[in-house]
Amino acid sequence: MSSQQPYSFFQSVERSFDKAAKFTKWDKGLLEQIKACNSIYSMRFPVKMDNGEIEVIEAYRVQHSQHKTPCKGGIRFSLAVNEDEVMALASLMTYKCAIVNVPFGGAKGGIKISPRSHSAYELEKITRRYTAELVKKNFIGPGIDVPAPDYGTGEREMAWIVDTYQSLRPGDIDSAGCVTGKPITQGGVRGRKEATGLGVFFGIREVCNMPEIMTKLGMTTGVEGKRVVVQGLGNVGYHSAKFFREHGAIVVSIAEYEGAVYKEDGINEEELFQHRKATGSILNFPGATNLAKNTDALELECDILIPAALENVIDGNNAPRVKAKMIGEAANGPLTPEADEIFAERGILVVPDMYLNAGGVTVSYFEWLKNLSHVRYGRMEKRFTENMNAHILGQIEGLTGKTVSEKERDFIMHGAEEVDLVHSGLEETMINATREIMEIWLSNPEIPDMRTAAYVSAINKVAISYTELGIFP
Ligand code: NAD
Repeated sequence: MSSQQPYSFFQSVERSFDKAAKFTKWDKGLLEQIKACNSIYSMRFPVKMDNGEIEVIEAYRVQHSQHKTPCKGGIRFSLAVNEDEVMALASLMTYKCAIVNVPFGGAKGGIKISPRSHSAYELEKITRRYTAELVKKNFIGPGIDVPAPDYGTGEREMAWIVDTYQSLRPGDIDSAGCVTGKPITQGGVRGRKEATGLGVFFGIREVCNMPEIMTKLGMTTGVEGKRVVVQGLGNVGYHSAKFFREHGAIVVSIAEYEGAVYKEDGINEEELFQHRKATGSILNFPGATNLAKNTDALELECDILIPAALENVIDGNNAPRVKAKMIGEAANGPLTPEADEIFAERGILVVPDMYLNAGGVTVSYFEWLKNLSHVRYGRMEKRFTENMNAHILGQIEGLTGKTVSEKERDFIMHGAEEVDLVHSGLEETMINATREIMEIWLSNPEIPDMRTAAYVSAINKVAISYTELGIFP
């Protein structure tokens, strides 16, 4: 807890929870149980570094809730890791999973290291030892707790985790499901990389398709023609920009660490990415204007603003200058509570991170299901569907005496591949979650914002699971 902030991160999550709990009918005791972190494993273990010295590593795994099992949440490598942060992030995972109907409890892990200060060999030793500690305490497994990547970790670390787990639990037939975010060759799923950005797009598109909301915001329905500003050209920002552009929106500005660029008729994110790769900066992109400061992009005239970089980028200072009509929180925590209040007063819609960036965990759930079923999505039905479609098309052409174009034929015949099914499952998930949250928000005029409505949705779902378990009458 810093001296300026009156609440720790976990306490601030509790406050948001309490604010939303007022709009639910649940018993105080049940609400207390939902809020509490069920198990906290704080560990220290020694690792011999490349220079021969032994370093004691501080690490955590927090299982916030087992109302559904397994629990799920990423593992973070960062010097900022502490018990309070891991607790807060684990509880947010419980609510996030509940909102998007992913049947997991929330968890989170953290290792207090700076990944850049360690060699790959040291990182491997640390990751494998951490996994072994989790195995010893029964804190990992396809039916217990399933980690995933987070800050500072990726496919490589997940591959080390699954390999360590499998060597310590020989014969566990479902062992590949002990972690998600794995490389495809180790049991990963296609469509994971773009999942969060695509989920952001699906969520915002659904809001844009709601006439009553769009009228209130002074916009027409639909994504087409909307002017979009994206902050961050990393994984989430790049893919959000890509899907908005592909669906007819105009990405007028993209901001990065080194600056921001503006182009009235729209930026192609891939071209900008290549320009950055070649020149080391997004600035001086052909046909675009450089903005004086990278934060200027946040204050541009536009319809939709997508902060997809860091936390706390919009606060009480710059929120009054933001001109977007809708803000899609692709990053985690891009708005401070002061900014949130300012936007609520100004009638700017904030689509909250807790569900909008849930594409990653949703596709992780699909990966886990793939691992448990031991078969790639689409393997059983792809050819069957294609044969059936060819037959139906042949019948129609025979009966009508007409033929469809080559392009149409390919489209109709196509049997679903793994990536098609993953995208389609994600689309369904994000549409349903958006509608459920909106229904809660619109049905109670006292609920101040969509974030609180998202919490209400989460609390209701977790509470119902507890009552279904017979834990509370
Ligand atoms: P990333 O590291 O791939 O991308 C972040 C980008 O933001 C980088 O390119 C970085 O240079 C840029 N950036 C840093 N400071 C900036 C600034 N001041 N102005 C503009 N750009 C700046 O990370 P990511 O995976 O895209 O994650 C972005 C956010 O989304 C984080 O808050 C993360 O927690 C959240 N998120 C990510 C996922 C996921 O699946 N990757 C899932 C849920 C939430």
